[in-house]
Amino acid sequence: MNRHWQQLKNKALELSYRTANQHLRLAVTGLAGAGKTAFITAIINKLLLVSPNNSKQLPLFSVCRDQRLLATKRVLQPDLQLASFGYETALNQLLAETPQWPPSTTNISELRLAIKFRPAQGLLAKFLDDTSATLLLDIVDYPGEWLLDLPMLGLSYQQWCDSVWASIDNFRLSPYFEAFEAKVSALLPDAEASDEQLAMVAASYQQLLLDMVQQQGFYLAQPGRLLLPGDLAGAPILSFFPLLPQQLMAEKWVSGSIYRVLEHRYREYVAKVVKPFYYDYFAGFDRQLVLVDCFTALNRGKAQFEDMTRALNAITQSFRFGNSSLLRRLFAPKIDKLLFAASKVDQITRDQQGNVLALLNAMLAPGRNFADSAGCSVETMAVSAIRATRPGMVSDNEYGEQEVVTGTRLSDRQYVTLYPGQVPRHLPDETFWQQQGFHFCDFAPPKVDSAEDFEHVRLDHLLEFLLGDKLQ
Ligand code: GDP
Repeated sequence: MNRHWQQLKNKALELSYRTANQHLRLAVTGLAGAGKTAFITAIINKLLLVSPNNSKQLPLFSVCRDQRLLATKRVLQPDLQLASFGYETALNQLLAETPQWPPSTTNISELRLAIKFRPAQGLLAKFLDDTSATLLLDIVDYPGEWLLDLPMLGLSYQQWCDSVWASIDNFRLSPYFEAFEAKVSALLPDAEASDEQLAMVAASYQQLLLDMVQQQGFYLAQPGRLLLPGDLAGAPILSFFPLLPQQLMAEKWVSGSIYRVLEHRYREYVAKVVKPFYYDYFAGFDRQLVLVDCFTALNRGKAQFEDMTRALNAITQSFRFGNSSLLRRLFAPKIDKLLFAASKVDQITRDQQGNVLALLNAMLAPGRNFADSAGCSVETMAVSAIRATRPGMVSDNEYGEQEVVTGTRLSDRQYVTLYPGQVPRHLPDETFWQQQGFHFCDFAPPKVDSAEDFEHVRLDHLLEFLLGDKLQ
């Protein structure tokens, strides 16, 4: 009887060990400037610092609050072909004499942490008394712009051209639009294609997209890799652009014609650039965080804010895992938790933080039920990775007591006290844009004595949602 019990116990123990040493791939994305690099640096920093003797940093993260998080260390990353996330460089920049924000995400990168913890309940805690378990956490950082290419998987070249020209009113705001339009109009789609000619027009299209995103403040741009071509720079696979609607009328196109070559390059881009990202990386993600910087989009104005809302909803298409979804036709997605987090909420006063969450929910409303229904739980939060401001109160003769934020303004490094303004709770309407009285300010990173001193807003709540169940 005793032997039988021992055997059972050993079996249970083995099973527990196997389930205990778990592995999780957490992907972090967001459009350029959303705060990905700052966020990943901040959570790695916090996790590396936590121990049972130093559990106050993340009070809402249960494994930490219960003093069960024993130690976290960085270990060798699993994918040798992926760049490593530059944690040390980023931290050193934040800790410099004049603190700097680390450079933004431009490509995919990863980093692996081994989180050693004491299980709280279940078989594991029962049998392993003082023994620990380990969660291997891979954090993968990639540009959200890559997800904006997803609809291309379901569009022919013609349909794609039509979809691009639907944004023509926005394009007209760019000084580069006329030059591009003139170059495309001069093409005869049935004429024989030449590499040089297509490269010249594609360069003009790239200039237009870069200006739209970097100068005019828009977000939607396809193909996404034209913004950050990396090792594809100059390759014919990126040398395509949309022909004008009136150039797409013919019924038949001769092989080798400009139309046929552009169509072929478009298909190759979809097959060799867009699809592989989903097969090789996205298919392996267990959990996904999407960071959203609402304040920059509000500062930029109505057209840009609406464009960002559209971009965000285009991003949500990658999480529609229903049976008829584009992705389900390619593989079985396994993301079971999806979090949209409004970032940098330290830029606004505390009384406005509920508003930014309401606004984010309103922005996501068109596609809100997309993933929930397919067994993925979706949550929204408002966080700040590295708090660059302090909250305060001032008395004003006209308005009475007023909440403010204080911090070092990034543009001139002046220490300022300001009321950045109200964040709308709903998608702003016409009158809001006419009367709006806000200006959200970029702050420099805080000057701290050591890596332990960085403060955050609700990172612990966020970690509890994304990792809490795996550390039980
Ligand atoms: P990425 O392009 O998504 O990688 O974004 P970054 O991490 O480079 O962040 C873009 C900018 O947002 C930074 O340079 C900072 O100016 C600002 N930022 C990021 N996180 C925070 C934060 O928690 N608080 C504040 N106040 N600013 C932040």
